[in-house]
Amino acid sequence: MEFETLYARLDAELDKLQSEGALRALPAGKFKGRYVKVFGRKLLNLSSNDYLGLSSDMVLQSDFLSRLCKSEKFLMSSSSSRLLTGNFPQYGELELLIADMYRKESALVFSSGYHANSGILPAVTDSRSLVLADKLVHASIIDGLRLSKAKVMRYAHNNYEHLHALLEKYAPLHTEVFIVTESIFSMDGDTADLRLLAELKKEFRNVYLYVDEAHAFGVRGENGLGLSEECGVSDEIDFLVGTFGKAAASQGAFVVCRQDIRDYLVNKMRTLIYTTALPPVNVLWTIEVLKHFDCLEKKRRHLDALSSFVRKAVADKGYGNISSSQIVPVVAGSNDAAIKLSGIMRETGFYVLPLRPPTVPEGTSRLRLSLTAAITMEDAAMIMNALPEKSDIA
Ligand SMILES: *Cc1c(COP(=O)(O)O)cnc(C)c1O
Repeated sequence: MEFETLYARLDAELDKLQSEGALRALPAGKFKGRYVKVFGRKLLNLSSNDYLGLSSDMVLQSDFLSRLCKSEKFLMSSSSSRLLTGNFPQYGELELLIADMYRKESALVFSSGYHANSGILPAVTDSRSLVLADKLVHASIIDGLRLSKAKVMRYAHNNYEHLHALLEKYAPLHTEVFIVTESIFSMDGDTADLRLLAELKKEFRNVYLYVDEAHAFGVRGENGLGLSEECGVSDEIDFLVGTFGKAAASQGAFVVCRQDIRDYLVNKMRTLIYTTALPPVNVLWTIEVLKHFDCLEKKRRHLDALSSFVRKAVADKGYGNISSSQIVPVVAGSNDAAIKLSGIMRETGFYVLPLRPPTVPEGTSRLRLSLTAAITMEDAAMIMNALPEKSDIA
């Protein structure tokens, strides 16, 4: 038998991706505030998760930096896991602040949303657990489920009749069941019905609710605590996960949960234990941003108005659209159509990258307009003028 070299196999796979129009590359470009500079052209950035525009808020940043330089807490690395010598006081301060914001018993901070989602469920589940996850949950949750000993089933996206049927059939056969969902979904921008999920949970004595608020934290709810705050169901959520890398313009993630859950995670969660903790300087920045969260209502309202306008305009151009958030997909269909659409937008001054399988289901390649509070209503009108009708690109 003849052996192919590793390089030959990988090169062939790359060639195949290229021929399918599915090859990924790290995008070039300089990111500056609302704009991206690519090949000497300044384009409005429609692909960022900086939902409140805080990453370009120079007042907030220079204010923070000027105070920071005077303090002794200017630590660029924790140099260790929190379980060893990396547990700087800033983590405790941030966790108290978060628990307080949610009026919950406790919070635990992680290096990223990826660490949170790939670590929490593998820690708290065992072979007698069942996880019922929405078909469209984020890759980081899927990877967590691959590491978990639990039995895993997926319910059709936002289909709570399907979920209910699975619960009735399988909940009695397992010690505990975890319903896992995002609140705002990454790819379609649609939302889970958290009130209904909270009701559903109450019908069963052994069901727990895990909600990933990555796209809603900072954006939804009176104080920016997420869709759970907006729906008034934060108390029903057993594992409420949020991330700092999107609207909070920082890095890291958290879960709010009961104290015993937190204690357990500190003992068992591998993506917390076996990794270097976030740099204290970064944690201080997160604290700074979160202290401003409740006064960002104006930005949230602007983003909401902007999103409604764009959602309607995209639907009017024939793309159909189930979004109810600041994430507005423009589903082109084929990879080629999505790439073409991205090119047209670029020509007219907008930076929006095409999304293709496996990130989205086959045949639903798309642009994903990711709106932020840094985008004006005038910008929105120009974006919509630039977007061709669906019938013109198919
Ligand atoms: C971005 C995202 C994550 C990952 O968070 P990071 O902090 O970027 O690792 C997790 N879940 C969802 C739904 C996300 O969109």
